[in-house]
Amino acid sequence: MLGLSMMWGVSGASHADVVASIKPLGFIAAAIAQGVTPVTVVLPDGASEHDYALRPSDVRRIKSADLLVWVGPEMESFITRSASQLPDNKNLELTALPVIQSHLVAETGDDHDHASTHAVALKSVKSSERELSDSHSHQGTHNMHIWLSPEMALLSATAIHDRLVQLMPAQKATLDSNLSQFIANLQHADEGIRQQLNTVKDKRYYVFHDAYTYFEQHYGLSPLGYFTVNPEIQPGAQKLHEIRTQLTEHKAQCVFAEPQFRPAVIDAVSRGTGVRKGTLDPLGSNISLSPDSYVKFLSQLSSQYVSCLKPMN
Ligand SMILES: [Zn+2]
Repeated sequence: MLGLSMMWGVSGASHADVVASIKPLGFIAAAIAQGVTPVTVVLPDGASEHDYALRPSDVRRIKSADLLVWVGPEMESFITRSASQLPDNKNLELTALPVIQSHLVAETGDDHDHASTHAVALKSVKSSERELSDSHSHQGTHNMHIWLSPEMALLSATAIHDRLVQLMPAQKATLDSNLSQFIANLQHADEGIRQQLNTVKDKRYYVFHDAYTYFEQHYGLSPLGYFTVNPEIQPGAQKLHEIRTQLTEHKAQCVFAEPQFRPAVIDAVSRGTGVRKGTLDPLGSNISLSPDSYVKFLSQLSSQYVSCLKPMN
């Protein structure tokens, strides 16, 4: 992001610049690094986490980063090569951490009660995707949208804190205080969001892509499913027929598009069914980096659910 790089200044020898792959990881890093070191984000606003090609300036920025924060090769495949050229202590691949791995769940979304059968079905979908596209990134059997889990956000914040303390021991007091503040803010926001979502948690709906499992499980929401696992791949005819049937029978109150994807397919499937249409932004692309941006991001997502799922007048 050119704008941000210019605003924050070019990395100097005395700085441990943090580079985050995507906005939400930048939100967490910005809270921890506040007053210590600048944070920038690789993925431009409006781009998809599943499909991006690094520009030469991105490659240079990652190369000169003192800390790269990313999910892992099964999510931001566009980062993998640049990350592998960094020394281990500058490469924070979150899903390589055992503490994060223990929180990962399988890519399911349609039916949490039949996770194992579903995982098998998804595998076959994914092999056909592989033939269609070699740039897709959902190769894993785990859901890699870890930034939508408040628990894993907290673990990520702690991991970023620990790395920055190693890199800049003189800043330990500030980093400790930033981490405590982040945890306190997140816990407070978490209670508010839970109360807000409690009012709509039994409402059924479809999301555009399989990104929201961690958030939905954490707050007890009731999704009916998703249009696609990988937003770069158009949903299949059978899937669309399934969703259309549910909508015609008024099983869902809402279908959610995303700012990154406003596919005609959602309009086509919901036409004439009376279902509401909403938008969920899994990346917080309209939110700028600040110490409280992660909490703003979760709160915005919560409001986006509620505005479509609240009782109809
Ligand atoms: Zn995604």
